[in-house]
Amino acid sequence: MSDNKIEEIQELDQSRVLQSWSRQKNKRNNIIIKSQGVKFTDQKGREYYDMSSQLVYANLGHKHPKMLEAFNQLSGLEIVATGFASSSKSELAEKIIDVAPSNMKKVYFTMAGAEANEHAIKIARMVTGKHKILSRYRSYHGSTFGAGNLSGESRRFQVEPGLPGFIKFKTPYLYREKLTFSDELDYTNYLLSELDKQIQFEGPEDIAAIFIEPIPGSNGVLLPPEGYLTGLSTLCKRYDILLICDEVMSGFGRTGKWFAVDHFNVQPDIITFAKGVTAGYLPLGGVIVSDRIAEYFDENVLMTGSTYSGHAMACHMGCAALNVYHQEEIISHVQEMESVINSRLEKLKEYKYVGDVRNIGLFSAIELVKDKQTKEPIIDYGQDYGKDLQGHMSTLLACLLDKGFYTYSHESCIFISPPLTITKEEIDSAFDLLELGLTQFILDHPS
Ligand code: PLP
Repeated sequence: MSDNKIEEIQELDQSRVLQSWSRQKNKRNNIIIKSQGVKFTDQKGREYYDMSSQLVYANLGHKHPKMLEAFNQLSGLEIVATGFASSSKSELAEKIIDVAPSNMKKVYFTMAGAEANEHAIKIARMVTGKHKILSRYRSYHGSTFGAGNLSGESRRFQVEPGLPGFIKFKTPYLYREKLTFSDELDYTNYLLSELDKQIQFEGPEDIAAIFIEPIPGSNGVLLPPEGYLTGLSTLCKRYDILLICDEVMSGFGRTGKWFAVDHFNVQPDIITFAKGVTAGYLPLGGVIVSDRIAEYFDENVLMTGSTYSGHAMACHMGCAALNVYHQEEIISHVQEMESVINSRLEKLKEYKYVGDVRNIGLFSAIELVKDKQTKEPIIDYGQDYGKDLQGHMSTLLACLLDKGFYTYSHESCIFISPPLTITKEEIDSAFDLLELGLTQFILDHPS
């Protein structure tokens, strides 16, 4: 690509495109001019490890040959409205049900994660006839209005004062709270008994659903304490409340299982998904519902819809991605890579500012603190998105980028969620760069 063309793209990007989550002034974005596998190259010819799979969706890496082959088949597809059956839509629904928990029966397709959550809220209200929705602090469910109301962190502030009937409860946070309790089960029991009381106060007869990310992703890969998810599921059953698991980030192998709930033997009533289903090759999301919910809509009208639900091209790319997951045994590969990444993460704890590291599968967070004893976060809550005046997290990301390690941050965490195809050698090389970048950051911030 010529220098003039690069200049033109960047100029138009800046002058004509509104950029998500950013102050617009002086925002000059880099361009990816080449990519392959777990790496990409920018317009300056610099190569980077994509250690966040872009926004945790490029699960099969860049330019996967099987996905490019599927792209070439798109011209043969019919452009059909939602009222028509299509082979890619039917086939993908079948493939998803095949890998979902055994109580799951049908899929409603959307174009993205937030939209999936919007439809899930409506479905829960239709099926139960109840209206309240409980979700958790330290969660992100998308930035549209309903999904924004579900979210339990600072990105929801723009939808405030918010919708009546959206209630928050606490997410377990072992790193910060476990010492107060004798063990994990003790912590679990405390959290669930508090939630039980909250359900009583709100009135179980009004609560349609409890919405959770089984392992909150962008809020820090917060692994639940022992027994928590099974206990939560039991509470939901006791009060006839639907359990909805948002697996937009954690689904499709990210945690070393098809879905994160599979680690805990929990069968939710609804699962929402997006990102990994096509590995980002085309936008697609969806809502998977249990047999009980599917049967409800045999007799009752599903009063929700969208123009592009089950778009044939997106579903075709979903089928291709699911085929690769199976053919390349991606899930067992992630399980193998888990210990490789764990040992590299553990080593990071020796570094100044690294308070905690958490990982499951290839889904990790590094939490930075000012002081390891007090665990004071490196930036204060809500001081993200250009409000971090000292710029600690943006400086750290810049140090990593400078060494060839690309990822993103949220609050005081940086995330490592590489393409699920990454090899041991690639993990090691990328972590060598991460350590160089971290060392540079520490040298620049001696106090
Ligand atoms: N749910 C979770 C858990 C997410 O991580 C995200 C996005 O990162 C969303 C929902 C929203 O998905 P989308 O940006 O595709 O609307």
